[in-house]
Amino acid sequence: MAAPSEALKEAMAARSLTTYRKKRNFRRTPEPGGRRGGAKKGRGKKPVFVIQKHAARQMHYDFRLQVGRALKSWAVPKGPSLNPHDKRMAAEVEDHPLGYAKFEGVIPKGEYGAGTVMIWDTGTYRNITKKNDKEVPITKALKRGHIAVRLDGKKIKGGYALSRIAKGKKPRWLLVKMRDEKADARRKPSKTEAKSALTGRTMQQIKKEEK
Ligand code: MN
Repeated sequence: MAAPSEALKEAMAARSLTTYRKKRNFRRTPEPGGRRGGAKKGRGKKPVFVIQKHAARQMHYDFRLQVGRALKSWAVPKGPSLNPHDKRMAAEVEDHPLGYAKFEGVIPKGEYGAGTVMIWDTGTYRNITKKNDKEVPITKALKRGHIAVRLDGKKIKGGYALSRIAKGKKPRWLLVKMRDEKADARRKPSKTEAKSALTGRTMQQIKKEEK
């Protein structure tokens, strides 16, 4: 099968962001609108990932991986662990626009996801999903419900596996650190490394300065 054309890719990314747009009022929230643009075309550029700390009704971490022009997204209540024994619940949520990887700020009261958002970690990643020793493209791996990625962030590095454990309207996955040289059961970055990877700010500082 031929690779999808650039135009088709645009169309697919746009459709995947419909839910994102429906949930938000862009006259009220400073979040990116997810219209075209912002996505650099650079072929061969490594895809990005971001982990945003989000003080919504419930504090959680949003784990996002660039796939094409969108960010595949999961809400992870406890955030990523460096201990391969930990299984972290990850609720699949709507795709976000690529520009969201740069968003740090405050979603106003009354808006969807109201609360402070911090870029807790960010960097690039590599898809390392394999089946029977053969590489599996990320889109196929997502459909199958099992992906493995190697993260190269400021705080988080090394392999992580995401496995879908429940399908349906609210798919649930488990995020697990893979056994590699970056595994470290003693390091608890969500506790000890609480500042923004982008600006060095605390949640409190972001809340104050972005008001
Ligand atoms: Mn969130």
